[in-house]
Amino acid sequence: MLLLRHGATALLAALALLSLGVPASTAAPGPGVLVVSYEPGETEADQAEQQFLEQNEVLESAAAHANALIGLPRDVSLTALSCGEENAFWDPETETIAFCYELAGAYRSLFTELNTEGSEAERSRAVDDDVIGISNSVVFHELAHALITLYDLPITGREEDAADQLTTLMLAGDSLHQEYAVSAIEAWGALALASERGDVAPDPADEHSLDAQRYYNAICWLYGSDPNAYQGVVATGDNPDGVLPESRATRCPAEFEQIDQAWGTLLEPYLKTA
Ligand SMILES: [Zn+2]
Repeated sequence: MLLLRHGATALLAALALLSLGVPASTAAPGPGVLVVSYEPGETEADQAEQQFLEQNEVLESAAAHANALIGLPRDVSLTALSCGEENAFWDPETETIAFCYELAGAYRSLFTELNTEGSEAERSRAVDDDVIGISNSVVFHELAHALITLYDLPITGREEDAADQLTTLMLAGDSLHQEYAVSAIEAWGALALASERGDVAPDPADEHSLDAQRYYNAICWLYGSDPNAYQGVVATGDNPDGVLPESRATRCPAEFEQIDQAWGTLLEPYLKTA
């Protein structure tokens, strides 16, 4: 079972700052929470993912992290199920976040290709950890869509980018979730490489930013959340293995601060700060 540390998050830190200058809002965190359920997987592969997610309480842990921080106006289902496609999505009609077993399976394949070092047991453990990490990231991304609908939050720019930004905030506050963020970054990096190689054609019409952009954004924002801790990701003359160009890196702490302040302001009435 995973142990979640509900330490002060970046969001809460932002809230503490905001509360100094912002008049008290009449809105309050709603009584609702994310409620996890697992529907029976419809294929053997889906059943294997179902068993993995249930045994490791993956969605339960993600839900607990979110529920400790944010109040929803009413309960929202976070349902794992066979969808017939590799996907996760927020359905505003049924007010449900769907997490497809096929998506976990697709990420498992991806991470199996990426984790090639160590014994078989070590590789298998690393893949499991990465699937847990990206699954958390996916839940927080979909939670952002849910919050935008349920609280009618005003978003400028692409909602998909805003959802990725909330995901970073949910992950940047403690070391366990920071590792989850790294799993997501590795996945975007691998997907970006696949489209660079021509394995998968990038789709500029897609509502999401391109995988390469999501990759660099996620690195930038995580680095920006704690530049000292993540100094090693910045490419410099002394650190040619760094992946984040210095020209972007210099902007990242301010980017993170802006994201933190924006989401902190939007969610301020709905945060459980007690
Ligand atoms: Zn999305």
